[in-house]
Amino acid sequence: MSSTFVTRDGSYGMPQYLTAIDGATCIGCGRCFKVCSRRVMHLYGVDDAGEILGACDGKDDDFDGELNRMIMVVDHAGRCIGCGACARVCPKNCQTMSRPTRSRHDMTRQTRRMALPFRTFFRVLVLVLCSNAVTVYFASHSVRLAIVTTLACSLLLQMVYFASLLFLVWRSNCACRERVKKD
Ligand code: SF4
Ligand code: SF4
Repeated sequence: MSSTFVTRDGSYGMPQYLTAIDGATCIGCGRCFKVCSRRVMHLYGVDDAGEILGACDGKDDDFDGELNRMIMVVDHAGRCIGCGACARVCPKNCQTMSRPTRSRHDMTRQTRRMALPFRTFFRVLVLVLCSNAVTVYFASHSVRLAIVTTLACSLLLQMVYFASLLFLVWRSNCACRERVKKD
């Protein structure tokens, strides 16, 4: 049930996030802006050629006479909570809505799944160290050398294990940041 929300009566719902507004069909009526509590979209001016001139913030809203019409633009998509209200009030059906992909929580879970569980790692470590100690002892007949190589081997394997964990966490964070940037 990841990426869902729970309503007050306990039923599950799936958010629908606003990802784009079709500038060709939008008439700039502002209904979506009025119902949105998150300031996800704003009015922008466009010229005759359809080029965006800038946000209509009440300062230079005629853009030196170049303004042809106003359209709604999704300029803060990352704020959207997926309530779907904007799509319901639009008279021109301009919005593109999308379901969530993977959340940060899902990615953390995936990282955990990918990482070798510590118990398994511990078993492998003991097995490798025992084999190493026996092999070195029979090859060199030196207890001291067997102990030193076993300790070195143990240290190396632990470093590799923890480095791989750090790498997985770093990769998961990078993927999260990429997604936030795309939004
Ligand atoms: S889905 Fe809800 S939060 Fe997202 S842009 Fe539309 S009205 Fe705003
Ligand atoms: S409700 Fe629809 S037509 Fe009106 S401004 Fe929003 S996207 Fe454009």
